[in-house]
Amino acid sequence: ISESAPADVQSLVVDGSQLIGGEWVPSHTGETIEVRNPANREIIARVPRSDAADVEAAVQAGERAFPAWRDLNATARAGLLFRWADLIDANGVALDSLESQEVGRPSWGPYGVGGQVRFIAGQADKVQGVSLPTYSPDTVGYTLREPYGVVGAIIPWNAPGPMFATEVAAAIAAGNTIVIKPAEDAPLTPLALAKLALEAGIPAGVINVVTGYGGEAGAAIPEHPRIRRIGFTGSPQTGRTIMAACARNLTPLHLELGGKSPQVIFADADLDTAIPAIAAGITLNTGQICAAGSRVVVERSVHQEVVERLAAAMQKVTVGPWHQRVNMGPLINEKQHERVCGYIDIGKEQGATLVTGGGRPQGAEFADGWFVEPTLFDNVSPDMRIAQEEIFGPVLSVIPVDDEQQAIEVANGVEYGLVASVWTQSVGRAVRMSRALQAGQVGVNNALGAGVIGGPFGGYKNSGFGRTMGADSVLDWTQIKTVSMREAPLPR
Ligand code: NAD
Repeated sequence: ISESAPADVQSLVVDGSQLIGGEWVPSHTGETIEVRNPANREIIARVPRSDAADVEAAVQAGERAFPAWRDLNATARAGLLFRWADLIDANGVALDSLESQEVGRPSWGPYGVGGQVRFIAGQADKVQGVSLPTYSPDTVGYTLREPYGVVGAIIPWNAPGPMFATEVAAAIAAGNTIVIKPAEDAPLTPLALAKLALEAGIPAGVINVVTGYGGEAGAAIPEHPRIRRIGFTGSPQTGRTIMAACARNLTPLHLELGGKSPQVIFADADLDTAIPAIAAGITLNTGQICAAGSRVVVERSVHQEVVERLAAAMQKVTVGPWHQRVNMGPLINEKQHERVCGYIDIGKEQGATLVTGGGRPQGAEFADGWFVEPTLFDNVSPDMRIAQEEIFGPVLSVIPVDDEQQAIEVANGVEYGLVASVWTQSVGRAVRMSRALQAGQVGVNNALGAGVIGGPFGGYKNSGFGRTMGADSVLDWTQIKTVSMREAPLPR
């Protein structure tokens, strides 16, 4: 890690190493990948460039750790996870600083990941089976929920800390051991969280972190025949590749694949609440959030006012390098910058009206980072590519509609179904819309859908399947066994 980083951040990272079987080790080839700050392209640290041989070593470590971890009583497992959560809280400032450096985002204030781990920890000893009715009184039947064994996860770069914590905590709370590959762009927060898990007393080999590229270390995870279940978060394209590999091994999985989430605004909405929330929702993390509300579906009578107020709100978003007090940092890398700028060009070519943004902010401090302005398009028609495809940047499309029925059609008229928001003061409309919207999370007068403790998170349609975060996320990492027991006939 760079020597300019504060001591508390440096102490979180073992430079050039990954965690296999409780040891900090290089890749078997010794090759590394540079991790850069996307705000200035400075190298922050190096991590191992691993491949299938390193994944095999991690699986073996997970297999060695599994029996004892499975057999540890569930309350003791929960206790270790609670200690992990406490250490995450205690190191919250340093973790936020580390994550903001590798993702290029401004500080998010108090680090929330400890709370996520704590919620899941509380589920560890609530994993229960049921007792079953039987045909005769000499038989007892019940179900056990058992862990799979060694499981695997692959996570993206946009929120490496929360993604790591929710996948790992749920999988190990259920008694599995895990091999997880963070994204090559943001592996440091995951490694730091794994280090804190070891310090909390979670045994060696329960959490194994293998770093490297998707096509190398990543591909080796779904291809591994002894990894018994997979969790993947990332692009639909990679999700399909992973599911195909899982199909070959008949490995069950869950997928969380992004979205094109609608913000539906009716004429009776409280715009003073809606506008700032929508502007913040598309610029938080530079729009690189699967749940980002990237389409505004607005009733025509308030269309003009909404566009004017959204433009003003987006122009107020301050952009800059992570360490300054800004609302929005750069995009993660050159590929993502090309992608977002490409979509801005497509929006213009297909005839949408560019209201604000659309360019690269000017000035010396922006020269080396992957910056783009908060961008608002108006008069977007539902079939335009910027209304259909996930951009993963701070680009918002406004689509005017005539009535509630058309709002539902447009909101649901995409392949995705992750999150949807409705802004209205009518209870009846809120009830109807929350049922009609095809999304795994619906927010009423609330952006990003969530805002609750322990809400399951996941998609409808091509946004994926399976749920992370809620109590069910722990159950998802278990398999059900039916036990039937009969009194043996007594000898005559
Ligand atoms: P990606 O799907 O390529 O990467 C996500 C993770 O998968 C990374 O850890 C990567 O190394 C790994 N990976 C890549 N190819 C793999 C393979 N063949 N086998 C196994 N693992 C592999 O996503 P990206 O290229 O970083 O981002 C592209 C787009 O994905 C974004 O623009 C956005 O639309 C979407 N995305 C969605 C989310 C989300 O939270 N749902 C997060 C990040 C990106």
